[in-house]
This record gives sequence, structure tokens and C-alpha cells, in this order.
Amino acid sequence: MKWEGERRSTNVDDRRGASGGGGFGGGLGDLFGRRRSSGGGLNIPMGGAGGRGGGMSLWIIVAIGAIAWFVFGINPLQLLGGMMGGGSSSLGGSARQSPAPTSVESDRQAAFSETVFAFTEDVWTEIFRGAGRTYDPPTLTLFTGATQTACGTGQAAMGPFYCPADQRVYLDLDFFNELATRFQAAGDFAQAYVIAHEVGHHVQTLIGVSTQVARERQGRSEEEANALSVRQELQADCFAGVWAARAKTSKGESIIEAGDIDEALAAAAGVGDDTIQQRSQGYVVPESFTHGTSAQRQKWFKIGFQSGDMNRCDTFNANPL
Ligand SMILES: [Zn+2]
Repeated sequence: MKWEGERRSTNVDDRRGASGGGGFGGGLGDLFGRRRSSGGGLNIPMGGAGGRGGGMSLWIIVAIGAIAWFVFGINPLQLLGGMMGGGSSSLGGSARQSPAPTSVESDRQAAFSETVFAFTEDVWTEIFRGAGRTYDPPTLTLFTGATQTACGTGQAAMGPFYCPADQRVYLDLDFFNELATRFQAAGDFAQAYVIAHEVGHHVQTLIGVSTQVARERQGRSEEEANALSVRQELQADCFAGVWAARAKTSKGESIIEAGDIDEALAAAAGVGDDTIQQRSQGYVVPESFTHGTSAQRQKWFKIGFQSGDMNRCDTFNANPL
């Protein structure tokens, strides 16, 4: 991936080295205070869809219940959009007791992540502008071990995640080492895919998908709720593919280099529910899937990448997935 020397995002909150729980005396209040309430700033796409130019039928497609919109009905304690299902048990305890010092390697990974984040800002700003909308970027929050979020305490063992309540992507850079070893997905573009997937959840939040899915999940059986989660996660994978197709360097070249897409696909496979369950427990329980199989995750990343069009990411109506 071509990233060296490219712009780094300034929408970054670097908490590396801070102690997880107690280090944030202001805790949740601090988080809420620094970030405006998500509800007020959201423009849910359902209204005004008619006035939009072509290419935004997604707004309609994703409306599972075809309900108009509502402001922020999600459970703020629900962490949305981790990279993979299974939680800490399948990932093993990677949370550290004491903060690791920032190292040269960590700083390089931070620079890389901030550059990827800037690329996502460029791409989604352009896509939103094309639809007559404004892209309000999320904040990349780098942390070590554990950190407070508006969705509860974030743990490194969860893997990277997005919290819609504070519109932040949370990333412990140590996950990238885990990605290369435990998930057998090395390479910078595997990492870029992970970040782009989480930003995909932010896009879902901006366009109202996240709230609609959260609402649809209520009152459903666990199995049905999981199935909805899978569709939401696969859409985030598709959005990551759309991003990969459209991301450009400052010279206007694609950021993609030979092998990059293979790296992303390896990562998509590595974090598939079936792969994770098979490895952690030796068998798979499809009803418990929350993120989709390895094959599905690869498929939807590819659909996004090959089309570069978010309208193709209609995982909610796709059958079969
Ligand atoms: Zn996700």
C-alpha cells in the first residue's frame, strides 16, 4: 500500500500508554463532552431521498423496516462493530496489566493508521458530496489495553471496534500483531481493511443503518438478531472494499499495490465466524454467527472493491448472502 508521506488524519485521540480504567477520571462525561451528541448531528438518509442524484438508492434499500428515521434509539452500552465475533474467549487475553510504552514500531503503526484514516476521510467525503451530503468523520482513538468509551469499557481483547454513541473507532495497535499471527493475515493492507471496516460502521451510523438495525434487533430472537448483525457486518466489509477501490494518493494514484487485495481477503477470511469458531472450539454454530463466514466476508469485500459503488452493498436484501 502506498501510504508513506501521505496526509495523516487529525481526527485522532492518542491514548496509548494511558491506563485503561482509572486513567480517565472524567470518564464518560469527558467523552461525551468532547464529542457532540451524535443524535443532533445525524442526517438520516430516509428523508430527502427523492431529491438526491442517482446512485443513492442504498438509502432506501437499507431501510429494513422502511421506517423513516428516529434519533438515536440505540443502546449506548452496546458496542457495535467489532472486527469479529466471539469476544475475548476466542481471542485470548491480550489485555495487558500495565501500559506498554510507545515504541518506534508503535509510532509507525500509529502513523500508518492515521494515514489510512485520512484516506477514508477523503473517499467518504467525496462519496457523500456526490450525494449532496456532508461526511462528518469519526475520531480514531488509539489505546493500550483498555479504555473508556461511550459504549462501555473497551478492551483490546475485543479487537478493534466502533462505538456509534461517540462516533469513534477504537484501536489497540497490538491487534495488528495478532492479525498477523493468530488470524494469519499479515501485511499493511490487512490492517487497512480492518480500519476501513470500522469506518464502514461509521458510515452506517451516518446513513441510519446502525440505528435501524439496532431497532430491528429489539424483540427478536437471538438467532434473528444475529442474522441482522451478519448483514450489517458484511455491509461494513463491502464498504471497506468500496473504500479500497477509490482511495488515492496525493498524486492521484491508487493506493493499492501488488498483493494488497490478497492481504485484505486473507484478513476477511481470518476474522470469519466459521474460521474463528473452528479454531477456538473445534466446531461451528451458524446460528451464533454475528459477522459472517470467511467466504461471505471475502465476497462482500470483493463486491465493494470491484464496483467501487456503495449501492452494491445491499447486504440486507441479498439472498443468499
Ligand atoms: Zn464490524
